[in-house]
Amino acid sequence: MEVKDWQLKALTPIWTGDAGGNGDRLIPTGIMGALRWWFEVLVRGLGGRACDPTTEVRCPDKNVQQADKPGHHCVVCELFGCTGWARKFRLMVLDEHDQVIQNQIQADQTFILRFVPLRPIREEEWCLLDATLRLIADYGAMGGKTVFKPSDESNRQNQLHHQDFGIVAVDRRPEGIDCNQQLASTFVHGSRNRRNFQDNSFSWASLQHFWCVKGRYLARQDSQRSSFNRVIGRDMRKNRSQQLFQNTNINRWLAGRQQESKKVFSFKHPEVARRTFGFVKPRLVNFQEIESRLGQVWSEFEAEHEFQQGEQIIEKLFQMKEGI
Ligand SMILES: [Zn+2]
Repeated sequence: MEVKDWQLKALTPIWTGDAGGNGDRLIPTGIMGALRWWFEVLVRGLGGRACDPTTEVRCPDKNVQQADKPGHHCVVCELFGCTGWARKFRLMVLDEHDQVIQNQIQADQTFILRFVPLRPIREEEWCLLDATLRLIADYGAMGGKTVFKPSDESNRQNQLHHQDFGIVAVDRRPEGIDCNQQLASTFVHGSRNRRNFQDNSFSWASLQHFWCVKGRYLARQDSQRSSFNRVIGRDMRKNRSQQLFQNTNINRWLAGRQQESKKVFSFKHPEVARRTFGFVKPRLVNFQEIESRLGQVWSEFEAEHEFQQGEQIIEKLFQMKEGI
């Protein structure tokens, strides 16, 4: 079984620290967590079902005793593992000289994600992993602190919670990954995959509901104004920013309550990879509403060309040919 390497370049530091805020050490589980989360987003985007391992509906299905029986675990757990079913690979984070990276990855640092198969990995799974890494690099961000928003206030730019983390570029992909949307879609719909669970609380985290605008960012402009807060519907004044401007279901969802993620993310640095992305939720907030909110804070925003969404991004991801 052959190892596969993706060579990435960090365009910002990559935060993989613990919940206590200690980010000096590189913690591979942080990268693994980000990979898995975006892999889930991709699988749901293709119409597959992916459990959320942080919730009660996580795999395995308690009614299926044997791990190799159909319905025991979902297509994401098939690769990433769950209780009773080990992950199919080991992830190594290496520098250009094949040495394990011990410390936080810094901006401009090249690093290699090496996937060492422990059991056979199917062609479709490599294809999905490859698409996941390109999704993170081209539209998303890698790592746990990506919820932080940038600031335009000069005295605050260097504060930790206003720094950008997790923006990467793919420098080199493994050769010979046979990948197209049809193959990937058929695979995630496979009848062996567990599908019988309620995913209402996290099904929004799907590429179908994802949007991205490149070259633009949201931030706080001064103590009275914040384009970020305006878009997610929070009070724009700094000392009031935990309050919602209008306490509607949409704003509550976009801003995220305690323990719950925001649904809009924005990155100012570096300029070449500047981006704002987020999610919508069927029957609550649609792409049009987000477009209109963005149009209120960005001058000359041409949603038609700039606002990329769902299906369009899926198609682009799978149109990739060999090489970069
Ligand atoms: Zn699962």
